[in-house]
Amino acid sequence: VNLYFLEKANNHTINLNNLLNDLIDISMIETGEMRLSFRYFAIAEYLKDIVQEFFPLAESKNLKLILHPIRKGLKLYADREKLKQVMSNLIQNAIKYTETGTIEISVEEEDKYSKISVSDSGIGIPEDDIDRIFERFYRVDKARSRDVGGTGLGLAIAKHIIEAHNSKIEVRSQLNKGTEFFFRLKK
Ligand code: ATP
Ligand code: MG
Repeated sequence: VNLYFLEKANNHTINLNNLLNDLIDISMIETGEMRLSFRYFAIAEYLKDIVQEFFPLAESKNLKLILHPIRKGLKLYADREKLKQVMSNLIQNAIKYTETGTIEISVEEEDKYSKISVSDSGIGIPEDDIDRIFERFYRVDKARSRDVGGTGLGLAIAKHIIEAHNSKIEVRSQLNKGTEFFFRLKK
């Protein structure tokens, strides 16, 4: 058996599966069928597990992936699965659109909220595009994103999920310097 082709086929299957799941999510969102299930849970362990899943991908690009220390016992009120989807997309994006340097995930405690942020030292987002990146299927430029796959649904789904938590997702970016996505959730 030719392992090269098996691996290719496997990768295509994974991509197709991801695309189908994104399309299902978007249609659920648009028909108002997305239901959230809120829980209180400890955020430190939760993020550690999510970030760990991305170590191999980050390592394959020689990027540092850092989760800054989070107070033990800090809890969030959120839908665990949906929040995981948001975090995974943000971390995956950060890795995809960064050639050298560091991806950092941090949680800053405020009064009643915690601010969660994913920042990178990557290619950044041009000012003209920044208002559009949360639209479905929007990708900054096909040439720069072609080789890294994706359909441009990730941020549209993330935005909706964060809004369903009564919050908003925000972005700051500097071309060729890096990008930060952040949002606040109830403690
Ligand atoms: P998908 O998430 O569906 O696999 P995608 O990553 O292209 O595909 P989104 O996650 O919605 O789609 O992101 C939309 C676009 O925003 C990306 O194509 C990219 O151009 C830009 N973008 C997102 N995150 C970053 C980032 N951290 N740095 C630079 N550009 C980004
Ligand atoms: Mg994405």
